[in-house]
Amino acid sequence: MVIVLKDGASDADVASITSMVTENGWRVNVSRGEEKTIVGVIGIPPQEKATFKDHLLALGLVQDVVYVSSPYKLVSRHFKPEPTVVQVGPVRTGGGAPFVVMAGPCAVESKAQLLETAHAVKEAGAAVLRGGAYKPRTSPYSFQGLREEGLQLLAEARTQTGLPVITEVTETKYLPLVSQYADILQIGTRNMASFDLLKDSAATGRPVFLKRGMAATIEEFMLSAEYLMAAGNANVILCERGIRTFETSTRNTLDLSAIPVVKEISHLPIYADPSHGTGKASLVRPMALAALVAGADGLQIEVHPHPEKALSDGQQSLNFKRFGELMREIADLCAYLGRPLARVTTNAVATAADGRG
Ligand code: PEP
Ligand code: MN
Repeated sequence: MVIVLKDGASDADVASITSMVTENGWRVNVSRGEEKTIVGVIGIPPQEKATFKDHLLALGLVQDVVYVSSPYKLVSRHFKPEPTVVQVGPVRTGGGAPFVVMAGPCAVESKAQLLETAHAVKEAGAAVLRGGAYKPRTSPYSFQGLREEGLQLLAEARTQTGLPVITEVTETKYLPLVSQYADILQIGTRNMASFDLLKDSAATGRPVFLKRGMAATIEEFMLSAEYLMAAGNANVILCERGIRTFETSTRNTLDLSAIPVVKEISHLPIYADPSHGTGKASLVRPMALAALVAGADGLQIEVHPHPEKALSDGQQSLNFKRFGELMREIADLCAYLGRPLARVTTNAVATAADGRG
């Protein structure tokens, strides 16, 4: 149930409604937008809704009471009509914030590889550095990542470039370490439905980048995001990274329609990952541009100094030249669409992670 308060609702009005909800043992989520204040009620039994609605309307403070039939609440636009803007160090994403490109290698492989890539992607216009330290590989014989050393290298790259860093956390037991270094925690496609990992990641307070499960419906994707928000973390970024279909000419089928669908149903930022979404470097450019036009808030793109030598996902990684060309096209298309492109111009960035040492 969603309670829309009359315009100009005071803090005292919100408090009296909140206590009416909590006195009944139900949970509450308050969203104070610039124009509207919305109070979400979670856990109200269906048979009590009509009576409670009458009580609310009798208060004279309420404009409307809406029943939300979707199984997710906090991530829904009914709950929060204004888009969520997530702040990560100097970068803001979502809503009207500039378009963000996260770029970097699939896996952190060495100091030279990561630092070279970090400087190159920043120079080309990326605003966030990606790099896997804990790699969830399909084969146990494939490179599994540099783990803590990889995290340290990401931190060094952040210090040198000022770019916030995003890296995947694959298990709850790695969270204390990963959240010490990462500005954004990535939950990969294989873990979208690892609900304890979602809850524990949310509890760190770090922004969470949630990738769609490769066989997940959009509703299941939203419910995983709901786990993060229900655990008290409002800084959630979603990412469409391709789903498993009958088609074999691409690694996955990038579901571009998921972008406008998610925009309609949720207030959270939605990104696209054309690298995993296609599995082929030649397809990254068209799908990146298409995702921008489809309304994505940002992109995540794999870039490697020598894709032919990469320890993971070389076939879908762009070299610096191709990434630079793509970024110029993205900048042109952003200008055409009237959307600024996010850029990090300083090196001295105090991120939350830096503060923790
Ligand atoms: C990745 O971003 O490196 C990754 C493994 O992505 P996904 O979980 O989408 O496969
Ligand atoms: Mn990869």
